[in-house]
Amino acid sequence: MKKTVLVSGGAGFIGSHVTVELIEAGYDVVVADNMSNCDKTCFEGVKKITGKDLKFNLVDFCDMEAVNKLFSENRIDAVIHFAAFKAVGESVAKPVMYYKNNLESFLNVLEAASGHGCHNILFSSSATVYGEPDAVPVTEKSPRKPATSPYGNTKQMCEDILQDTVKATKGSDGEIKGILLRYFNPIGAHPSALIGELPRGVPNNLVPFITQTAIGKRECLSIFGNDYPTPDGTCLRDYIDIVDLAKAHVSAVGRMLEGKMKEDCEVFNIGTGRPLSVLELVNAFEKVNNLKLNYKFAPRRAGDVTAIWADPTLANTEMGWKATRTIEETLEAAWKWEKHLAGYENV
Ligand code: UDP
Repeated sequence: MKKTVLVSGGAGFIGSHVTVELIEAGYDVVVADNMSNCDKTCFEGVKKITGKDLKFNLVDFCDMEAVNKLFSENRIDAVIHFAAFKAVGESVAKPVMYYKNNLESFLNVLEAASGHGCHNILFSSSATVYGEPDAVPVTEKSPRKPATSPYGNTKQMCEDILQDTVKATKGSDGEIKGILLRYFNPIGAHPSALIGELPRGVPNNLVPFITQTAIGKRECLSIFGNDYPTPDGTCLRDYIDIVDLAKAHVSAVGRMLEGKMKEDCEVFNIGTGRPLSVLELVNAFEKVNNLKLNYKFAPRRAGDVTAIWADPTLANTEMGWKATRTIEETLEAAWKWEKHLAGYENV
């Protein structure tokens, strides 16, 4: 029988790409979202790509009654939990809102899953838990550093909550097994250009800022800092294609549902293992899309780490997952998506 996966926050950037890959891998997917940070664009795109008439569930995961109802109405085998606020700066300004939303929604999912015979929880964590690493690339054993924002703190706290829940429920009827995926820098869009990133207002992240500058929505990209101790002075990151990232979730869910986990709570870095500087990324974007980007160097951005990239060996060997898309393919897809949003024909 087909297994069913609940994707909380399934209408967002990562959630919509994961939904597509799960459906293409043969899963039934229950998509639920409170639409607090997105509209229906990506959900409609998912339906077009997969040809499935998916049902949309408008659910706020902070509403325990609504979460229980979702679990009662669907036989859910695994949950992939994305539903959370994600803006670092906003979390500094509104910590209570961030702690309340990100913790409460996850606690509700755990409680409802445990009470409804769903034993598998995958949590979307982040490389932010490593802070400024002592050594790169980082492995899953690299120490977590104190979080520098309430947002980062919620990621660490949810990791701990899942670890504790796994320990506490072991052997009980409500047993929970967990996987934490620590994403590096997810970028790009589905090659169909039907789903992609939809930042509200001025983008904080590099690639949406680049594509919006290229299309003329922003005047000029500011590259934050060119005096870092890196080969070209700009920060180094591990940019992971969104479709590759989505496929990692399919591998992880399969691992859980097929009883292949080696520990009750596993942690995997999801990255390419390839560091790229901001300038290298900008140059690659210009080259592959055959355009010139208006950019300037600006002071460092508070809170940015100099360099971080993944050692993805564990995910490669244990999950049989590996990033396959080149940075050129990824940046081409990101640009195609921006043009699609701007209403260009035949992108
Ligand atoms: N960055 C930049 N200009 C921007 C946005 C980001 O130079 O308008 C840089 C940022 O300083 C960092 C890299 O791009 O070195 C990636 O930043 P992003 O916010 O996308 O992800 P982060 O690594 O902070 O999670």
